[in-house]
Amino acid sequence: MSLVACHDVVKRFGANTVLDGVSITIERGEIVAIIGRSGSGKSTLLRCINGLEPIQGGRIVFNGIVVNDPKTDLRAVRQRVGIVFQSYNLFPHLTVERNITLAPRVVKRTAPAQAREIAREVLAKVGLSEKIDAYPDSLSGGQQQRVAIARSLAMAPDLMLFDEITSALDPELVGEVLKVLEEVARQGMTMALVTHEMGFARRVAHRVVFMHHGRIWEEGPAERFFDAPRTQELQSFLGAVLH
Ligand code: ADP
Ligand code: MG
Repeated sequence: MSLVACHDVVKRFGANTVLDGVSITIERGEIVAIIGRSGSGKSTLLRCINGLEPIQGGRIVFNGIVVNDPKTDLRAVRQRVGIVFQSYNLFPHLTVERNITLAPRVVKRTAPAQAREIAREVLAKVGLSEKIDAYPDSLSGGQQQRVAIARSLAMAPDLMLFDEITSALDPELVGEVLKVLEEVARQGMTMALVTHEMGFARRVAHRVVFMHHGRIWEEGPAERFFDAPRTQELQSFLGAVLH
């Protein structure tokens, strides 16, 4: 069974159809990069997968749970799906440790000592062990985004969704965040990531999906996706981003 299976998903905002029959599966351990122009529905797709947005048609199944079934307890889904956004949204009045341990303590009722242990572990994974007692303001944007990744990892999710997490960073900080993502990927985490970093997508993803006008326009294995675009739309998109 696929970890995620979207069947013919339709999402509308009023009269605007933003996902127009999207079908996609994500296997356990798979890394899927989602690319496409602004407004093509990439963020909406991620938000639908973890139940942040209701859908108007189709079906989304995560780990055997029908996400769009009104009877489904979405908290159970969201506990198993981590999502990291462009803006890292750390709590400025909490230390790095407290930012990371908040969800495990509140949602999973993890004991404080064990929560601190988890914080140590996930901070080591993102290379920020020494920042455990720091406040977010004292960190660079790249370090804050790495803490946001650590915070997500602390819940030990089955799936991680990353939505353009390097887009707001100064160029010199992008590399360190991509390196952390690559490390998380290497450890076998299932990931769907929206990215403009085509080199990264090619190197790290197993599969690349190009969205256009709310549809999956083209998809394929990362190693040949960028070399032979089949559609004019992908060709022109790649022409614009690869310049
Ligand atoms: P992408 O991430 O590919 O840039 P989005 O999924 O953010 O695209 O947006 C796709 C379309 O959905 C856009 O036309 C956007 O204006 C619209 N949209 C996204 N979120 C909302 C919302 N909360 N309310 C109304 N329209 C929205
Ligand atoms: Mg987006």
